[in-house]
Amino acid sequence: MELMVTELFSLIVMASLLFSRRALQAKLPTPVEKHMKWVVYTYVLYLVLALLSHVHILGFITYTPGLARTLIILHSISVPVFTLVWMTAFERELLSAKYASLSATVQTGFLVIYITASLLDILLGSRLFIFSGSLLVTGGYGLPIMFRLSLFYTVFALAVILAHWRVVDSSSRLIMLLSTLFLMLSLIMFQIFRQPYMFALSCTFMLLLRYLSWQRKELMLDTLTRIPNNQAFQEDLNRKVNTNTPYSILMVDMENFRLINDRYGYGIGDEILRRFAAFCSTSFTEAKTYRIVGNRFALIFPLQAHYQLVRIVKALVTETARGWMVHDQMIRSHLNIAIVELPLQANTSEEVMESLDFTLLAIKEKRRQSVIIFNQKLMHVRKRKLDVLSAIRAAILDESKILVYYQPIVALKENRIIGAEALMRLQDDRLGIISPAEFIPGAEEAGLISKLTEIIVRKACVFLETNPLAAARLSHLSLNISADDLTTVEAARKLAEIFEQTPIDKTIIRLEVTESVLLSSPKAVSVSWSLLSDLGLRFMLDDFGTGYANLETLVQLPFEIVKIDRSVVSNGQNNFELLALISGMLARLGKQIVAEGVETAQQLEQVRALGIPYVQGYYFSKPVPEEQFLHMITETNK
Ligand code: C2E
Ligand code: CA
Ligand code: CA
Repeated sequence: MELMVTELFSLIVMASLLFSRRALQAKLPTPVEKHMKWVVYTYVLYLVLALLSHVHILGFITYTPGLARTLIILHSISVPVFTLVWMTAFERELLSAKYASLSATVQTGFLVIYITASLLDILLGSRLFIFSGSLLVTGGYGLPIMFRLSLFYTVFALAVILAHWRVVDSSSRLIMLLSTLFLMLSLIMFQIFRQPYMFALSCTFMLLLRYLSWQRKELMLDTLTRIPNNQAFQEDLNRKVNTNTPYSILMVDMENFRLINDRYGYGIGDEILRRFAAFCSTSFTEAKTYRIVGNRFALIFPLQAHYQLVRIVKALVTETARGWMVHDQMIRSHLNIAIVELPLQANTSEEVMESLDFTLLAIKEKRRQSVIIFNQKLMHVRKRKLDVLSAIRAAILDESKILVYYQPIVALKENRIIGAEALMRLQDDRLGIISPAEFIPGAEEAGLISKLTEIIVRKACVFLETNPLAAARLSHLSLNISADDLTTVEAARKLAEIFEQTPIDKTIIRLEVTESVLLSSPKAVSVSWSLLSDLGLRFMLDDFGTGYANLETLVQLPFEIVKIDRSVVSNGQNNFELLALISGMLARLGKQIVAEGVETAQQLEQVRALGIPYVQGYYFSKPVPEEQFLHMITETNK
């Protein structure tokens, strides 16, 4: 009775495995997994035949003697069939294709002989299987042959597993070994004690274990390309970093992949990714290929010499440039490749990832070179970037590290300082004074800019509040505002609060924004905009002449004052013409103009000749610390 319960239970477990679509129908890509499906099928066959036989043997249902004999013989055939299918599943994983099919053929040969003889026995009568009544097999060679044949399969598989012990990953080989040993043991138990319990139990248990380990592996596979995914890459990388063995790691970005998707559709885009993945994993047998995300792949090689890297890169680039034919369309792409060497250039997996990202970024910035090996120079640049980032973080915690410099803005007609632009500097104990050109982009990238803006706005407000005389002489104080300050309404609200709480004339404040800021998420920007302008603050357009602003957008943008960029103002005949064109156009649109970056007397003359009223530049003064600026207004502006 217990036996039947065990078998019934096993059957239910197997049925649920079979119905688990993800496991056995939808995606069974590798031949190994296809083979495992057959293991489950033959096991189910065994269980069904076992149950059918046992209901008869235990007397629940009585078959005709002929049917009973047939079922019992079929049941005994199913044991070696199942054993063989299972054991060859392992052998297929371990042996080369040639040896696997040779051994499978020989072993199947024996099985075919056994099956033929048993089937003949059903037809011709008891030679192999001698029955007591129609219930039990009490003699003949049938069962001993079945036992020896099955045992032989397990012994052979065991030998193969042990011979390949080192090649297989530890979880797979443990499952293989345990399954084979359990199967062997249950066969022996059955032969000696006539106890079939263990067979079903151990098979069910081992198949379940196998299934779970397979599912784990499945989690490590990219669903589209069926190669290992980012999680697998991170795990492997961690392991490799810990062992300290030398590796070359390539991060490969397929460029402009969005264009391919947009132009040809996602179906074709996916197909390209699949082909590329297949190319990498079949061409570089010494490497492991991963799909990290989207159009980004990684390859881990044992450390390669320079000439070997050149060869690898060439193979990759050539294949991609040659392109792939998909649905009659030839689709080509272009690769950016970053290379980092372990452990020379990075010691932790975070360092590896950062260095790779950093190198890819450097490639995108340079645009001249699409393959870069992470090197000393990049290492320095990266280190500097990280140092600057920590300096920013430190300055946010200790605001005294943030300095505000003021650069005067001069009204040409009156020859008087009428305003200033507040410009940030970072004072770091180790790095000295850091220029905003260096730290502002980093702060924006790291999402820290709004904090910095808050601080400089507060400091500028305090400056105006504590120097009312100076403030009274200024009709303009510029503050630079970044995209984040306007696209997150929360940040804008915070700025508004600071302005609101300071008793100063808000109408002198100009918030300088570049045109790109306005184009990013216009909805949020317009909310922030009204929040700030409701307080009396005004906006002005910065860096005009560097962006894409066309006349139409400029007319629509609500700026009274526009600052012409230094690149337009600086020397050169062509630039003078451009400056003339731009300032003429702005004047006709009724905008006030500030010319930025005036360095020489000649430039000043040009600006004056064009009737530009306000000027900012080294010709008058560089940005200077607060004290010096105060001195400037009070002394020279009398
Ligand atoms: P920007 O807003 O275009 O500021 C003008 C920059 O041009 C300043 O550089 C100024 O020193 C420089 N400059 C002015 N006149 C001349 C000249 O005659 N010759 C030359 N060669 N340069 C001149 P700075 O202070 O290094 O700032 C660089 C950039 O950093 C600024 O460009 C601005 O985009 C950003 N920045 C500075 N402070 C802040 C801030 O508080 N917040 C934000 N978001 N950005 C800031
Ligand atoms: Ca500015
Ligand atoms: Ca500017």
